[in-house]
Amino acid sequence: MTQPLFMVGARGCGKTTVGQALARVLGYAFTDTDEMLWRSTGKTVAEIVADEGWAGFRARESEILTSVIQGQTVVATGGGIILSAANRHFMRARGTVVYLHVSAQELARRLQVYPDEEQRPSLTGKPMIEEIADVLAAREKLYQEAAHHILDASQAAPDDVVYAILQQLYPSAAS
Ligand code: ADP
Ligand code: MG
Repeated sequence: MTQPLFMVGARGCGKTTVGQALARVLGYAFTDTDEMLWRSTGKTVAEIVADEGWAGFRARESEILTSVIQGQTVVATGGGIILSAANRHFMRARGTVVYLHVSAQELARRLQVYPDEEQRPSLTGKPMIEEIADVLAAREKLYQEAAHHILDASQAAPDDVVYAILQQLYPSAAS
C-alpha cells in the first residue's frame, strides 16, 4: 500500500497488538503515535498531560500524526485521535483507516487483566467501567466516521482479527 494504514479505536481495543501482527504479515513497518511522541518530546503521554494538559497533548498528537505519510506502514493511534475533525480528515485522505470495535465490557476486562504499565490519567475521574462506557459512547460515531473498515474485535483472537482485516483490505485475494 502506498499510503499508511491507521488503526483507530478505544484504549485496549488491540491497536498495538493487532497492528503489530498485521504489519508483520504484510512486511510493513509499525509505529505508534504515543511512541512517536515519546521520541520527539522525551515524555510519556502521562507526563505530557501532567505538564501541558489534555489540550496540549492533543495538539502534539495532531502535529505528530501529520508527519506520518509513508506507505507500507501500520500506525497505531491514540484512542482520542478521532476527536479532531482535522485528524479524521487527514487519516481518511492520506491513509486507510481501520477501526477495531470492542465493547465497553470487554475493554474493561482487558484493562483489568492487563493493566497499562504506564497508567493513563483518567479522563473523567469516574470508576473505570463507567468511564470506558461513557467515553466509548461519545466516540463511537467518530471512530465509524473516520474508518474505511470496521471490524468487531471483541471476541476474536488477535490473529483472527488480522485475518479479518486482510479479507477486508484484499477481498479478491481471499480464498
Ligand atoms: P491498544 O493498543 O488499542 O490500547 P493493546 O494492543 O495494547 O490495545 O491491547 C490491550 C490488551 O488487550 C493487551 O494486553 C492485549 O494483549 C489484549 N488484546 C488485544 N487484542 C486482543 C484480542 N483480540 N483478544 C484478547 N485480548 C486482546
Ligand atoms: Mg497501543
